[in-house]
Amino acid sequence: MPKPATPHKAESSKHYPTNLASTKLGSAPLLPADIEGSALSLRLQHYLKPQDITQVWDAYRYADLAHHGVVRKTGEPYITHPVSVACILAELHMDVPTILAALLHDVVEDTDITTQDIKEKFGQQVAELVDGVTKLDKIEFQSASVAQAENFRKMLLAMSQDVRVILVKLADRLHNMQTLDAMRPEKQKLIAKETLDIYAPIANRLGLNAIYQELEDLSFQYLHPMRYNAISNAVKAARGNRKEVVSKILESIKHQLATMNVDAEVSGREKHLYSIYKKMTGKMTAFSQIYDIYGFRVIVKDLTSCYIALGALHALYKPIATKFKDYIAIPKANGYQSLHTTLFGPFGTPIEVQIRSVEMHNIADAGVAAHWLYKASDAQLTALQHKTHQWLQRLLEIQSDSADSLDFLEHLKVDLFPDEVYVFTPKGKILALPKGATAVDFAYAVHSGIGNSCVAVRINQDLAPLRTELHNGDHVEIITGALAKPNPAWLNYVVTGRARAHIRHFLKSQQSTESAHLGERMLNQALRALHVESSQITDAHWQKLIRDYGLKKKSEILTDIGLGKRQNVMVAHQLLAMTDENVEKHTKLPAKSLDTITIHGTEGMAVQFAQCCRPIPGDPILGFINKDKGLVIHTHDCPSVRKFKLDPDKWLDVEWEPESKRLFKTNLNLTVANQPGMLAKIASGIADAGSNIDNVSVEESDGSAYANLYFTVQVKNRVHLADLMRGLRKIPDVVRINRAKGNVANVVKKPTQ
Ligand code: MN
Repeated sequence: MPKPATPHKAESSKHYPTNLASTKLGSAPLLPADIEGSALSLRLQHYLKPQDITQVWDAYRYADLAHHGVVRKTGEPYITHPVSVACILAELHMDVPTILAALLHDVVEDTDITTQDIKEKFGQQVAELVDGVTKLDKIEFQSASVAQAENFRKMLLAMSQDVRVILVKLADRLHNMQTLDAMRPEKQKLIAKETLDIYAPIANRLGLNAIYQELEDLSFQYLHPMRYNAISNAVKAARGNRKEVVSKILESIKHQLATMNVDAEVSGREKHLYSIYKKMTGKMTAFSQIYDIYGFRVIVKDLTSCYIALGALHALYKPIATKFKDYIAIPKANGYQSLHTTLFGPFGTPIEVQIRSVEMHNIADAGVAAHWLYKASDAQLTALQHKTHQWLQRLLEIQSDSADSLDFLEHLKVDLFPDEVYVFTPKGKILALPKGATAVDFAYAVHSGIGNSCVAVRINQDLAPLRTELHNGDHVEIITGALAKPNPAWLNYVVTGRARAHIRHFLKSQQSTESAHLGERMLNQALRALHVESSQITDAHWQKLIRDYGLKKKSEILTDIGLGKRQNVMVAHQLLAMTDENVEKHTKLPAKSLDTITIHGTEGMAVQFAQCCRPIPGDPILGFINKDKGLVIHTHDCPSVRKFKLDPDKWLDVEWEPESKRLFKTNLNLTVANQPGMLAKIASGIADAGSNIDNVSVEESDGSAYANLYFTVQVKNRVHLADLMRGLRKIPDVVRINRAKGNVANVVKKPTQ
């Protein structure tokens, strides 16, 4: 049984005293005895079974008792409000649970009755609907920005889950707007603005045309009373002036359709005032230029008839070519379908005509509610359901593979925005986050600094763990700590890329700190081996090294060493070369050569390729640090380094940079038949392979049948060299060809250049 209402709650600012005499409901107060003849009763009798209506009266009595003793300013019992809301929904032929929820919609919020009580008395479904409306009532729209209004609308829709919740909410808002008169003017404007920004667009998006237009016109009336009256009067005047014209046109349209055998219902219609106002302000036109305050609507039995009717009307009056729109072929986003055409009327006035089928008309009028409104109809039902279903899907941007196989009603229960969740920041801003987002995701969405230092969260005033999943409408406040750091465990539950990236970045930089420590120890070790005290290395040395490496910080070099990307020995040698006693020598070292860029990790060092083996990319190589020459690169199999290789302290393992565009010198040794023209043949073979000759020498071999030739050629790498040698081998009389390593200078006796 309902407990008595707490009277103080009735003064809550969100309910507006109503003068019932001015509403559509009829005489007041409504007492159980009067039910039979009430407006609600009359509407319900149209489409509900007697046992359903009995249930409605149960809910009525329950709500009446709960709100008992609470009166609106005008003296009417509070129950008149929920009854009016139920009336609006009964007009749309909403199902029984919706009507019950409408009657009970303020009971949980304004009295001591709980959702559990409702569930026990009226069942799970009704309780859920009432709970949904109660939750919507609790969130407030604060920001005036357009983007925030859009987010707020989405939040309301997402929170509704069941589309019937938002329908009850819209009916609630409509009745509050209808009875806004008794409010203070400032309050009226505030509520009217919210209605215009939030609720009217939702009604429009759901295709609830009648509710949408009434919400807009009522808001317009309270926001701009003067403009409203001016337009309203102008429309009235125009209505009077054009009365005769309108009925004449109406008659000729009817006649024309009849002669063409099109079964149609033709009516005149007037635009709603706010849309006329929007047209005037949007296009900066005067009222006298708005011709289409009147239009005609032609409703035919099916789709084909729409186009036949269109043809008939175009035969009657000439159409304005640019004003024809086929919303049947391409429906509007909210599922609206019709043919729109504008004709040159008999008196030079343009006539706007909408042509649609009965089914299209039902959807145009009631939108999402069309499903309930025309439930009773027969074979059309499935097609209508299907269509309503389809556009609801599109409307709500739901992507689901199995959509068509599922029942329509089941879909009404789905999350309207399955991928997003909308929550409030402490400043009242609404953030849209992916579904499943946690407090940590929220923190990073606000600011990376907040994310990196968050320690706890308050959700709707209560402390909660950081991993808590957020829900629509939550107020979220992050608590940060000065010494807090991201935790690797967060990666297990964050869902936003932003949070993930920031946490990873932090962990990486933390890892690099550790690597830098290791790198520093390794470098000191290498310096000690070279008998250099770390105190000998000054900031200036480091600055030069950082510059030479093209880096920004010393820690980057140390991190590279720690991570094994750079060799401590090489860095130590470079630093050694810069220390005071070596400065002179260092400056005399060969200038940085192009070769630097070809050997990994040697930026800023003098690098030379050994003349003996002439390494080329692809060769396994090692480097020797020479105090005079810098780093000298040899091939692994160069005979001249054989004796050093056993002593690991003397050499460095070095690597080629992956890509190098320059050419490298290398030596070739050829044995050829001692014939005239041989040199020219070989030179042209080298050129054919895309190589250059850097040097040639010929070993004298008096009287012998064979001659030895030494070439220094330029190649890109080992592959290029192999190609070159393969080409030369094909030349007749080339007996032997091989790459020369070791001290070739000994055999070069007669330079040719
Ligand atoms: Mn209410």
